Amino acid sequence: MKPILIVGAGFAGAVHARTLAEAGFRVHVIDQRPHIAGNAYDYVDDNGIRVHAYGPHLFHTKMPRVIEWVQKFGAFVPYTHKVRALLPSGVPVPLPINLDTVNAVFGTDYQTAEQVHAHLKSIALPIVEPANAAEHLYANIGLQLTDLFFRPYTKKMWGLDLEDMSAAVVKRIPLRTDRKDTYFADDDVQMMPRDGYTKLFQTIFAHENIRVSLTTRFEKSMLTDYAFCFNAMPIDEYFDFKLGELPYRSLKFHHRTEAGIPEQSWSITNFTDTGPITRETAWHLLPHHIAQNTGRHTLTREEPCDYRDNHMERYYPVKTADGRYNKLYDQYKALAADEQNIAFIGRCGTYQYLDMDQVINQSLTHVEAWLKQRA
Ligand SMILES: Cc1cc2nc3c(=O)[nH]c(=O)nc-3n(C[C@H](O)[C@H](O)[C@H](O)COP(=O)(O)OP(=O)(O)OC[C@H]3O[C@@H](n4cnc5c(N)ncnc54)[C@H](O)[C@@H]3O)c2cc1C
Repeated sequence: MKPILIVGAGFAGAVHARTLAEAGFRVHVIDQRPHIAGNAYDYVDDNGIRVHAYGPHLFHTKMPRVIEWVQKFGAFVPYTHKVRALLPSGVPVPLPINLDTVNAVFGTDYQTAEQVHAHLKSIALPIVEPANAAEHLYANIGLQLTDLFFRPYTKKMWGLDLEDMSAAVVKRIPLRTDRKDTYFADDDVQMMPRDGYTKLFQTIFAHENIRVSLTTRFEKSMLTDYAFCFNAMPIDEYFDFKLGELPYRSLKFHHRTEAGIPEQSWSITNFTDTGPITRETAWHLLPHHIAQNTGRHTLTREEPCDYRDNHMERYYPVKTADGRYNKLYDQYKALAADEQNIAFIGRCGTYQYLDMDQVINQSLTHVEAWLKQRA
Protein backbone atom coordinates (compact mmCIF):
# COMPACT_ATOMS: atom_id res chain seq x y z
CA MET A 1 0.00 0.00 0.00
CA LYS A 2 1.13 3.55 -0.74
CA PRO A 3 2.15 5.62 2.31
CA ILE A 4 0.04 8.35 3.88
CA LEU A 5 0.91 12.01 3.45
CA ILE A 6 0.59 14.37 6.39
CA VAL A 7 0.87 18.07 5.63
CA GLY A 8 1.99 20.00 8.72
CA ALA A 9 4.37 18.93 11.50
CA GLY A 10 2.35 20.68 14.25
CA PHE A 11 0.20 18.91 16.83
CA ALA A 12 -2.56 17.97 14.35
CA GLY A 13 -0.09 16.34 11.97
CA ALA A 14 1.94 14.78 14.78
CA VAL A 15 -1.05 13.07 16.41
CA HIS A 16 -2.21 11.72 13.05
CA ALA A 17 1.30 10.60 12.07
CA ARG A 18 2.10 8.81 15.30
CA THR A 19 -1.28 7.07 15.57
CA LEU A 20 -1.14 5.87 11.96
CA ALA A 21 2.48 4.75 12.33
CA GLU A 22 1.63 2.75 15.43
CA ALA A 23 -1.25 1.15 13.49
CA GLY A 24 1.27 -0.04 10.89
CA PHE A 25 0.90 2.63 8.17
CA ARG A 26 3.92 4.22 6.53
CA VAL A 27 3.66 7.97 6.97
CA HIS A 28 5.40 10.90 5.28
CA VAL A 29 5.14 14.21 7.14
CA ILE A 30 5.99 17.39 5.25
CA ASP A 31 6.20 20.95 6.49
CA GLN A 32 7.03 24.10 4.60
CA ARG A 33 8.92 25.49 7.61
CA PRO A 34 12.50 24.43 8.38
CA HIS A 35 11.45 22.94 11.73
CA ILE A 36 8.99 20.52 13.33
CA ALA A 37 6.40 21.35 16.08
CA GLY A 38 4.33 23.87 14.08
CA ASN A 39 3.42 26.90 16.13
CA ALA A 40 4.60 25.18 19.31
CA TYR A 41 8.24 25.23 18.09
CA ASP A 42 10.76 26.45 20.67
CA TYR A 43 14.53 26.99 20.73
CA VAL A 44 17.25 28.15 23.11
CA ASP A 45 18.48 31.64 22.21
CA ASP A 46 21.87 33.35 22.69
CA ASN A 47 20.89 34.32 26.24
CA GLY A 48 20.51 30.62 27.12
CA ILE A 49 16.75 31.13 27.38
CA ARG A 50 14.12 28.87 25.82
CA VAL A 51 11.89 30.99 23.58
CA HIS A 52 8.71 29.87 21.82
CA ALA A 53 9.10 31.17 18.28
CA TYR A 54 5.38 31.76 17.73
CA GLY A 55 4.40 33.14 21.12
CA PRO A 56 4.11 31.56 24.57
CA HIS A 57 2.46 28.14 24.56
CA LEU A 58 1.05 27.14 27.93
CA PHE A 59 -0.28 23.62 28.18
CA HIS A 60 -3.55 23.35 30.09
CA THR A 61 -6.34 20.82 29.85
CA LYS A 62 -9.24 19.03 31.47
CA MET A 63 -8.89 15.97 29.22
CA PRO A 64 -7.26 12.87 30.77
CA ARG A 65 -6.67 11.18 27.41
CA VAL A 66 -4.74 14.21 26.16
CA ILE A 67 -2.54 14.18 29.25
CA GLU A 68 -1.95 10.47 28.86
CA TRP A 69 -1.08 10.90 25.16
CA VAL A 70 1.46 13.73 25.54
CA GLN A 71 3.11 12.21 28.58
CA LYS A 72 4.04 9.15 26.53
CA PHE A 73 6.52 11.34 24.65
CA GLY A 74 8.27 13.33 27.34
CA ALA A 75 8.34 14.52 30.92
CA PHE A 76 6.09 17.42 31.92
CA VAL A 77 6.51 19.71 34.90
CA PRO A 78 3.70 21.51 36.76
CA TYR A 79 3.28 25.19 36.00
CA THR A 80 0.52 27.55 37.15
CA HIS A 81 0.18 30.38 34.70
CA LYS A 82 -0.37 33.95 35.94
CA VAL A 83 -0.91 37.14 33.95
CA ARG A 84 -0.91 40.76 35.07
CA ALA A 85 -2.39 43.71 33.18
CA LEU A 86 -0.57 47.00 33.42
CA LEU A 87 -2.97 49.85 34.27
CA PRO A 88 -2.32 53.30 32.71
CA SER A 89 -0.91 54.25 36.14
CA GLY A 90 1.75 51.53 35.75
CA VAL A 91 0.23 49.32 38.45
CA PRO A 92 0.06 45.60 37.53
CA VAL A 93 -3.29 43.96 38.38
CA PRO A 94 -4.51 40.34 38.08
CA LEU A 95 -6.03 39.24 34.79
CA PRO A 96 -8.66 37.75 34.39
CA ILE A 97 -10.37 40.43 36.44
CA ASN A 98 -10.75 39.38 40.08
CA LEU A 99 -11.48 40.98 43.48
CA ASP A 100 -8.05 42.67 43.61
CA THR A 101 -8.44 44.02 40.06
CA VAL A 102 -11.79 45.59 40.97
CA ASN A 103 -10.32 47.15 44.11
CA ALA A 104 -7.35 48.57 42.16
CA VAL A 105 -9.53 50.09 39.43
CA PHE A 106 -12.33 51.50 41.61
CA GLY A 107 -10.30 52.32 44.73
CA THR A 108 -12.55 50.06 46.81
CA ASP A 109 -11.56 47.73 49.62
CA TYR A 110 -13.82 44.75 49.04
CA GLN A 111 -12.97 41.61 50.94
CA THR A 112 -15.66 39.21 49.75
CA ALA A 113 -16.98 37.82 46.49
CA GLU A 114 -20.48 39.03 47.42
CA GLN A 115 -19.27 42.64 47.61
CA VAL A 116 -17.59 42.41 44.20
CA HIS A 117 -20.58 40.68 42.70
CA ALA A 118 -22.88 43.46 43.99
CA HIS A 119 -20.51 46.12 42.62
CA LEU A 120 -20.39 44.51 39.17
CA LYS A 121 -24.16 44.15 39.19
CA SER A 122 -24.53 47.86 39.99
CA ILE A 123 -22.33 48.90 37.03
CA ALA A 124 -23.56 46.31 34.48
CA LEU A 125 -25.81 47.67 31.73
CA PRO A 126 -29.30 46.17 31.33
CA ILE A 127 -28.76 44.43 27.98
CA VAL A 128 -30.83 41.26 27.79
CA GLU A 129 -29.64 39.72 24.52
CA PRO A 130 -26.11 40.96 23.75
CA ALA A 131 -25.57 41.09 19.98
CA ASN A 132 -21.78 41.47 20.03
CA ALA A 133 -18.71 41.44 22.28
CA ALA A 134 -19.25 45.04 23.52
CA GLU A 135 -22.80 44.35 24.59
CA HIS A 136 -21.83 41.09 26.25
CA LEU A 137 -19.14 42.85 28.29
CA TYR A 138 -21.31 45.86 29.13
CA ALA A 139 -24.01 43.47 30.38
CA ASN A 140 -21.50 41.74 32.66
CA ILE A 141 -18.88 44.25 33.81
CA GLY A 142 -20.14 47.68 32.72
CA LEU A 143 -18.45 50.47 30.77
CA GLN A 144 -15.28 51.25 32.72
CA LEU A 145 -13.82 47.75 32.99
CA THR A 146 -14.80 47.02 29.39
CA ASP A 147 -13.13 50.13 28.06
CA LEU A 148 -10.03 49.64 30.20
CA PHE A 149 -9.30 45.94 29.76
CA PHE A 150 -11.04 44.96 26.53
CA ARG A 151 -11.56 47.90 24.14
CA PRO A 152 -7.96 48.91 23.37
CA TYR A 153 -6.73 45.31 23.62
CA THR A 154 -9.36 44.10 21.15
CA LYS A 155 -8.64 46.92 18.73
CA LYS A 156 -4.93 46.13 18.63
CA MET A 157 -5.36 42.37 18.79
CA TRP A 158 -8.10 42.00 16.18
CA GLY A 159 -8.14 45.36 14.37
CA LEU A 160 -11.85 45.40 15.23
CA ASP A 161 -14.07 47.43 17.51
CA LEU A 162 -15.81 45.39 20.19
CA GLU A 163 -19.09 46.15 18.43
CA ASP A 164 -17.89 44.31 15.31
CA MET A 165 -16.74 41.29 17.19
CA SER A 166 -18.59 38.11 18.08
CA ALA A 167 -19.57 37.78 21.74
CA ALA A 168 -18.18 34.21 21.54
CA VAL A 169 -14.61 35.55 21.61
CA VAL A 170 -14.99 37.34 24.95
CA LYS A 171 -17.39 34.82 26.48
CA ARG A 172 -14.54 32.39 27.14
CA ILE A 173 -12.66 34.97 29.24
CA PRO A 174 -13.44 34.19 32.88
CA LEU A 175 -14.52 36.82 35.40
CA ARG A 176 -13.72 36.17 39.05
CA THR A 177 -15.12 37.72 42.17
CA ASP A 178 -12.62 36.04 44.52
CA ARG A 179 -8.83 36.45 44.85
CA LYS A 180 -7.89 33.57 42.57
CA ASP A 181 -5.21 34.95 40.26
CA THR A 182 -4.26 32.01 38.07
CA TYR A 183 -5.02 32.43 34.40
CA PHE A 184 -6.44 28.98 33.59
CA ALA A 185 -8.17 28.42 36.95
CA ASP A 186 -10.76 26.08 35.51
CA ASP A 187 -8.40 23.59 33.89
CA ASP A 188 -7.46 20.61 36.03
CA VAL A 189 -3.94 20.27 34.68
CA GLN A 190 -1.41 22.96 33.77
CA MET A 191 2.04 21.79 32.82
CA MET A 192 4.93 22.38 30.46
CA PRO A 193 7.16 19.91 28.62
CA ARG A 194 10.33 19.82 30.73
CA ASP A 195 12.68 19.78 27.74
CA GLY A 196 10.56 21.99 25.50
CA TYR A 197 8.03 21.33 22.74
CA THR A 198 10.55 20.72 19.97
CA LYS A 199 12.09 17.83 21.91
CA LEU A 200 8.60 16.43 22.56
CA PHE A 201 7.88 16.46 18.82
CA GLN A 202 11.21 14.79 18.05
CA THR A 203 10.10 11.89 20.24
CA ILE A 204 6.61 11.78 18.69
CA PHE A 205 8.10 11.54 15.20
CA ALA A 206 10.77 9.00 16.25
CA HIS A 207 9.05 5.93 14.81
CA GLU A 208 10.29 3.60 12.09
CA ASN A 209 7.14 4.19 10.03
CA ILE A 210 7.48 8.01 10.05
CA ARG A 211 9.56 10.05 7.61
CA VAL A 212 9.70 13.84 8.00
CA SER A 213 10.65 16.30 5.22
CA LEU A 214 11.08 19.93 6.21
CA THR A 215 11.14 23.00 3.95
CA THR A 216 8.74 21.06 1.74
CA ARG A 217 5.61 22.79 0.52
CA PHE A 218 2.50 20.82 -0.36
CA GLU A 219 1.75 20.48 -4.07
CA LYS A 220 -1.42 18.83 -5.38
CA SER A 221 0.72 16.74 -7.73
CA MET A 222 2.09 14.90 -4.66
CA LEU A 223 -1.26 13.29 -3.97
CA THR A 224 -0.88 10.55 -6.57
CA ASP A 225 2.02 9.05 -4.58
CA TYR A 226 -0.04 8.54 -1.45
CA ALA A 227 -3.03 6.45 -0.37
CA PHE A 228 -4.52 9.31 1.67
CA CYS A 229 -3.61 12.83 2.80
CA PHE A 230 -4.31 14.45 6.17
CA ASN A 231 -3.78 18.12 5.50
CA ALA A 232 -3.26 20.91 8.07
CA MET A 233 -2.64 23.63 5.47
CA PRO A 234 -5.09 26.54 5.19
CA ILE A 235 -8.17 25.12 3.48
CA ASP A 236 -8.72 28.26 1.36
CA GLU A 237 -5.15 28.04 0.04
CA TYR A 238 -5.68 24.41 -0.99
CA PHE A 239 -8.59 25.55 -3.15
CA ASP A 240 -6.55 28.47 -4.56
CA PHE A 241 -8.77 30.94 -2.70
CA LYS A 242 -11.46 30.45 -5.31
CA LEU A 243 -14.28 31.45 -2.94
CA GLY A 244 -12.27 34.24 -1.27
CA GLU A 245 -9.76 34.46 1.56
CA LEU A 246 -10.22 33.26 5.13
CA PRO A 247 -8.39 36.01 7.03
CA TYR A 248 -6.21 35.66 10.12
CA ARG A 249 -4.59 37.94 12.63
CA SER A 250 -0.88 37.55 13.00
CA LEU A 251 1.78 38.67 15.45
CA LYS A 252 5.14 40.34 15.02
CA PHE A 253 7.56 39.45 17.81
CA HIS A 254 10.05 41.97 19.20
CA HIS A 255 12.75 40.32 21.33
CA ARG A 256 15.07 42.15 23.65
CA THR A 257 17.76 41.23 26.14
CA GLU A 258 18.06 42.50 29.70
CA ALA A 259 20.69 41.89 32.34
CA GLY A 260 20.02 39.64 35.33
CA ILE A 261 17.47 36.90 35.99
CA PRO A 262 14.84 38.84 37.97
CA GLU A 263 12.15 37.12 40.01
CA GLN A 264 8.52 37.94 39.49
CA SER A 265 5.33 35.97 40.23
CA TRP A 266 3.93 36.24 36.69
CA SER A 267 5.45 35.62 33.25
CA ILE A 268 3.14 37.58 30.95
CA THR A 269 2.20 41.25 31.20
CA ASN A 270 -0.71 42.61 29.17
CA PHE A 271 -0.79 46.27 28.15
CA THR A 272 -4.07 48.16 28.46
CA ASP A 273 -2.88 51.26 26.58
CA THR A 274 -3.70 52.14 22.99
CA GLY A 275 -0.14 51.54 21.72
CA PRO A 276 0.61 48.71 19.26
CA ILE A 277 1.86 46.12 21.79
CA THR A 278 -0.54 43.66 23.45
CA ARG A 279 1.69 41.72 25.82
CA GLU A 280 5.20 40.85 26.91
CA THR A 281 6.60 37.48 27.93
CA ALA A 282 9.48 37.06 30.36
CA TRP A 283 10.57 33.59 29.24
CA HIS A 284 12.87 32.80 32.16
CA LEU A 285 9.83 32.70 34.46
CA LEU A 286 8.43 29.64 32.69
CA PRO A 287 9.70 26.37 34.22
CA HIS A 288 12.97 24.98 32.79
CA HIS A 289 13.26 27.91 30.38
CA ILE A 290 16.70 28.91 31.63
CA ALA A 291 18.67 26.34 29.64
CA GLN A 292 21.97 28.00 30.53
CA ASN A 293 22.44 30.80 33.06
CA THR A 294 24.23 33.56 31.16
CA GLY A 295 23.18 36.28 33.62
CA ARG A 296 20.84 37.67 30.95
CA HIS A 297 17.21 37.08 30.08
CA THR A 298 14.97 37.56 27.06
CA LEU A 299 11.71 39.48 26.86
CA THR A 300 9.38 39.30 23.87
CA ARG A 301 6.68 41.83 22.98
CA GLU A 302 3.83 40.98 20.62
CA GLU A 303 2.51 43.38 18.03
CA PRO A 304 -0.66 42.09 16.33
CA CYS A 305 -1.21 42.76 12.64
CA ASP A 306 -3.03 41.45 9.61
CA TYR A 307 -1.46 38.21 8.34
CA ARG A 308 -0.79 39.92 5.00
CA ASP A 309 1.57 42.26 6.85
CA ASN A 310 3.51 39.33 8.32
CA HIS A 311 4.45 37.02 5.43
CA MET A 312 0.99 35.36 5.54
CA GLU A 313 1.76 33.86 9.00
CA ARG A 314 -1.68 32.71 10.12
CA TYR A 315 -2.30 32.78 13.88
CA TYR A 316 -5.89 33.57 14.84
CA PRO A 317 -8.93 33.04 12.57
CA VAL A 318 -10.99 36.26 12.51
CA LYS A 319 -14.40 35.91 14.19
CA THR A 320 -16.74 38.75 13.28
CA ALA A 321 -20.13 39.41 14.88
CA ASP A 322 -21.93 38.51 11.63
CA GLY A 323 -20.01 35.22 11.29
CA ARG A 324 -19.16 35.91 7.62
CA TYR A 325 -15.88 34.03 7.62
CA ASN A 326 -17.42 31.02 9.33
CA LYS A 327 -19.95 30.92 6.50
CA LEU A 328 -17.13 31.14 3.97
CA TYR A 329 -15.32 28.32 5.77
CA ASP A 330 -18.51 26.20 5.55
CA GLN A 331 -18.44 26.67 1.78
CA TYR A 332 -14.85 25.48 1.61
CA LYS A 333 -15.76 22.55 3.85
CA ALA A 334 -18.49 21.58 1.39
CA LEU A 335 -15.92 21.64 -1.45
CA ALA A 336 -13.56 19.51 0.63
CA ALA A 337 -16.26 16.88 1.14
CA ASP A 338 -16.16 16.23 -2.64
CA GLU A 339 -12.38 15.67 -2.68
CA GLN A 340 -11.14 12.09 -2.79
CA ASN A 341 -8.71 10.70 -0.19
CA ILE A 342 -8.02 13.93 1.65
CA ALA A 343 -9.11 15.27 5.03
CA PHE A 344 -8.42 18.74 6.43
CA ILE A 345 -7.18 18.85 10.00
CA GLY A 346 -5.97 21.28 12.66
CA ARG A 347 -6.21 25.01 13.13
CA CYS A 348 -5.93 26.17 9.52
CA GLY A 349 -7.51 23.11 7.93
CA THR A 350 -10.69 23.66 9.93
CA TYR A 351 -10.39 27.46 10.40
CA GLN A 352 -10.82 27.47 14.17
CA TYR A 353 -8.73 28.71 17.06
CA LEU A 354 -7.81 25.54 18.89
CA ASP A 355 -5.70 25.21 21.98
CA MET A 356 -3.11 22.45 21.90
CA ASP A 357 -5.19 20.08 24.03
CA GLN A 358 -8.19 20.62 21.77
CA VAL A 359 -6.21 19.93 18.62
CA ILE A 360 -4.73 16.78 20.18
CA ASN A 361 -8.14 15.57 21.30
CA GLN A 362 -9.81 16.31 17.94
CA SER A 363 -6.97 14.70 16.04
CA LEU A 364 -7.08 11.54 18.17
CA THR A 365 -10.84 11.26 17.62
CA HIS A 366 -10.45 11.94 13.90
CA VAL A 367 -7.65 9.51 13.18
CA GLU A 368 -9.13 6.76 15.36
CA ALA A 369 -12.44 7.05 13.47
CA TRP A 370 -10.54 6.89 10.16
CA LEU A 371 -8.71 3.75 11.28
CA LYS A 372 -11.92 2.12 12.48
CA GLN A 373 -13.58 2.76 9.12
CA ARG A 374 -10.76 0.92 7.41
CA ALA A 375 -10.55 -1.97 9.89
C1 LIG B 1 0.42 33.17 19.42
C2 LIG B 1 -0.20 31.87 19.80
C3 LIG B 1 -0.18 31.45 21.11
C4 LIG B 1 -0.77 30.24 21.46
N1 LIG B 1 -0.73 29.88 22.77
C5 LIG B 1 -1.30 28.71 23.13
C6 LIG B 1 -1.29 28.32 24.51
O1 LIG B 1 -0.78 29.03 25.38
N2 LIG B 1 -1.86 27.14 24.84
C7 LIG B 1 -2.45 26.33 23.90
O2 LIG B 1 -2.95 25.26 24.26
N3 LIG B 1 -2.46 26.68 22.59
C8 LIG B 1 -1.91 27.84 22.19
N4 LIG B 1 -1.92 28.20 20.87
C9 LIG B 1 -2.55 27.30 19.89
C10 LIG B 1 -1.58 26.29 19.29
O3 LIG B 1 -0.57 26.96 18.59
C11 LIG B 1 -2.38 25.39 18.35
O4 LIG B 1 -3.29 24.61 19.11
C12 LIG B 1 -1.53 24.42 17.54
O5 LIG B 1 -0.46 25.07 16.93
C13 LIG B 1 -2.38 23.78 16.47
O6 LIG B 1 -1.65 22.81 15.80
P1 LIG B 1 -1.87 22.59 14.23
O7 LIG B 1 -1.09 21.38 13.90
O8 LIG B 1 -3.31 22.62 13.91
O9 LIG B 1 -1.25 23.90 13.55
P2 LIG B 1 0.23 24.42 13.45
O10 LIG B 1 0.96 24.23 14.72
O11 LIG B 1 0.15 25.79 12.89
O12 LIG B 1 0.89 23.45 12.37
C14 LIG B 1 0.53 23.48 11.02
C15 LIG B 1 1.80 23.30 10.19
O13 LIG B 1 1.41 23.16 8.81
C16 LIG B 1 2.43 23.73 8.03
N5 LIG B 1 1.88 24.07 6.69
C17 LIG B 1 0.89 24.93 6.42
N6 LIG B 1 0.69 25.00 5.09
C18 LIG B 1 1.56 24.15 4.52
C19 LIG B 1 1.84 23.80 3.17
N7 LIG B 1 1.16 24.31 2.15
N8 LIG B 1 2.81 22.89 2.94
C20 LIG B 1 3.52 22.34 3.97
N9 LIG B 1 3.30 22.67 5.27
C21 LIG B 1 2.33 23.55 5.54
C22 LIG B 1 2.83 24.96 8.81
O14 LIG B 1 4.12 25.39 8.44
C23 LIG B 1 2.73 24.50 10.26
O15 LIG B 1 3.98 24.11 10.77
C24 LIG B 1 -1.38 29.42 20.48
C25 LIG B 1 -1.41 29.83 19.16
C26 LIG B 1 -0.83 31.05 18.81
C27 LIG B 1 -0.90 31.50 17.38
